[in-house]
Amino acid sequence: MTTATVDLINPATEELVGTVQLTSAEGTDAAVARAHAAFPSWRDVAPGDRARLLRRFADLVDRDIEPLAELEVRNSGHTVGNARWEAGNVRDVLEYYAAAPERLFGRQIPVPGGVNLTFKEPLGVVGVIAPWNFPMPIAGWGFAPALAAGNTVLLKPAELTPLTALRLGELAREAGIPEDVFQVLPGKGTVVGQRFVEHPLVRKVVFTGSTEVGRTVLAGCAAQVKPATLELGGKSANIVFADADLATAAATAPDGAFDNAGQDCCARSRILVQRTVFDRFLELLEPAVTGFRVQDPTLSSAQMGPLISAAHREKVASYLPEGAPVAFRGSTPEGAGWWFPPTVLLPSSPTDRAVVEEIFGPVLVVLPFEDEADAVRLANDSDYGLSGSIWTQNLGRALRVARAVQSGNLSVNSHSSVRYWTPFGGYKQSGLGRELGPDALDAFTEVKNVFIAH
Ligand code: NAD
Repeated sequence: MTTATVDLINPATEELVGTVQLTSAEGTDAAVARAHAAFPSWRDVAPGDRARLLRRFADLVDRDIEPLAELEVRNSGHTVGNARWEAGNVRDVLEYYAAAPERLFGRQIPVPGGVNLTFKEPLGVVGVIAPWNFPMPIAGWGFAPALAAGNTVLLKPAELTPLTALRLGELAREAGIPEDVFQVLPGKGTVVGQRFVEHPLVRKVVFTGSTEVGRTVLAGCAAQVKPATLELGGKSANIVFADADLATAAATAPDGAFDNAGQDCCARSRILVQRTVFDRFLELLEPAVTGFRVQDPTLSSAQMGPLISAAHREKVASYLPEGAPVAFRGSTPEGAGWWFPPTVLLPSSPTDRAVVEEIFGPVLVVLPFEDEADAVRLANDSDYGLSGSIWTQNLGRALRVARAVQSGNLSVNSHSSVRYWTPFGGYKQSGLGRELGPDALDAFTEVKNVFIAH
């Protein structure tokens, strides 16, 4: 049951990649009904068997890393190096949570008059709503732990990037996971996503996307007291102290901000630099930015590809009006494709739009700070709190600042945010709840307490 189709365009060439049918509201409801019907038997699959099915799914993703990556390069314009990592991340996350069914422990709690047990029970049908910026990994962070915990899953990829999600659905079936246990429903957010929120048989929503839509998802879930995990926007700070290894901090800052063409919720798009080394840092940053390789994303040398769409490029460009305080810019290929050069701004005020709003493109701002307290104040001067970096050789300062910055994922002397072994998520308007790591199963289970009288 489908209503319409969407044409998918290669962001690097503007050529048609394919056409996908959009699922209608009725089609979504029918999929929910099938997922609901499939739930009891999936829940009751023996833990070892469920684990084996997930490992088989991981093996098939591993087998297909290269075609999955190529598909993502065509559909999303990601560099082939990134796309391989993204497909590998799905494999790793499946393998990690394949260990969970056999380790979904409850507790025996001492009580008077009997025995008390807790069980972690799956919720039922889980709806996963994914964005276009990391179509594969973000889908996997939802569906892998949800399936492992015994839920059935409906995955709605973003309108612009459904192709790898559809392929992952086929691989799940090839692995032997029943069709109705994991269904991929390409479609509009306002249709399919909205039905996940409204449909009473969907018992949990995992949403990754903009803070604006996340708010409406949370409000919709509230009507049924439906739990929601939200991974939303960011405007993360990269704090560089005077005592840092400045050469490394400057050389890696473009990776921290321009990876995936800056279409990364964790982008360190605000660089805060201690005033005493501000000029020196900019001198070191300039060659790193102008030398950032924006290339045909199929080339393994490419560090950055195009933006996702013409409309998104216009939005990013709106942060660079006439007279914008551009310090320096990189370059882009000529010809077709939605290219945007890596750009560094030196805003005159911390209230500038480019400092405050998530641009979601390869544009970063650099601002000076005076001392540690000022750095923390500036870093926290944001509605967001997703990630961030701290560059210093002083271990005490690194820990003090890491504890003081209101953000879910911080790295010291690196720009690492996502490691599947560790929890990921945001403070403030960057989200609600955590994905990945050892506790992710808690987001896909209810704790049931059972008391047995002696
Ligand atoms: P978006 O909010 O426009 O869309 C995200 C998803 O929600 C899409 O699948 C869309 O179809 C769906 N959607 C739209 N309207 C809906 C509705 N009313 N009900 C239910 N679903 C609806 O975001 P986007 O432009 O695809 O992604 C970019 C945003 O995602 C950025 O703000 C970025 O920071 C954020 N993001 C956050 C994380 C994180 O982990 N925190 C990761 C990646 C992206």
